[in-house]
Amino acid sequence: MDTVRTAVVTGSNSGIGLAIAEAFAGVGHNVVLNSFTDSKEDHALAAEVGKKHGTGAAYIKADMTKPEECRQLVEKAAEQFGSVDILVNNAGIQHVAPVEAFPIDKWDAIIAINLSSAFHTTAAAIPHMKKASWGRIINIASAHGLRASPFKSAYVAAKHGIVGFTKTVALELAEHGVTCNAICPGYVLTPLVEAQIPGQMKAHNMDRETVVREIMLAKQPTKKFVTVEQVGALAVFLASDAAASINGTPVSIDGGWTAE
Ligand code: NAD
Repeated sequence: MDTVRTAVVTGSNSGIGLAIAEAFAGVGHNVVLNSFTDSKEDHALAAEVGKKHGTGAAYIKADMTKPEECRQLVEKAAEQFGSVDILVNNAGIQHVAPVEAFPIDKWDAIIAINLSSAFHTTAAAIPHMKKASWGRIINIASAHGLRASPFKSAYVAAKHGIVGFTKTVALELAEHGVTCNAICPGYVLTPLVEAQIPGQMKAHNMDRETVVREIMLAKQPTKKFVTVEQVGALAVFLASDAAASINGTPVSIDGGWTAE
């Protein structure tokens, strides 16, 4: 295996972020879990991941709507583990509404969490990575970083924005042993998506299987959800030495959605 690294994953007490943290711990890296809460459960979750895989693990609270907390997350992780080698910008939220009725506070929160937080954490991580002449920055974008859907203006804008940010960071750091790439998942069955199924069943008067196939996975040619484990494995690969030449690119993991 590659050298033991320290990976910070934003928004990782649930869903894709947690699976990515698990995947890094699974290959022996130290992991820092994060969200905006600071509960006993959050800290227990990190301890459990560390214990299960025999790696260093910590939970550090930081609200990704707050620039200073984004930057402090990186500094606290570096203090605790000696470095931040891998940064995964994963925290994200969604809101669905037509543009003319889109609530201003929801627009601001989506841009802050899904886009600006990555600017702040990345800016804080770069000096550590330059010093080590090695680093991996992985931004969890979305198929919506490459394609639009109606009623998701803030999300699509933020995800397209993070793909552009990814390319710029990649160019700036290419000679420092640091890569920056975006992962663009299609629909992933996380608790967030799972929770929408009963409502859709009721709204469309369909059974679970039909809702998943005809409504949720309408754009996903495989008609299967991407799994969180698949996204975790892709992140581990992008962070490996074998992926040193993959730089500045959106990597799709969407069952063929963006092939159309
Ligand atoms: P999720 O709701 O399970 O996870 C989101 C995480 O972000 C949680 O840990 C949450 O606590 C954290 N978070 C929210 N607001 C935060 C804040 N202010 N500060 C810090 N952390 C905060 O959802 P998920 O589906 O696992 O989404 C993770 C990422 O993957 C998001 O960026 C999302 O846009 C992206 N994504 C998801 C899908 C999907 O189908 N589930 C598809 C493509 C991209």
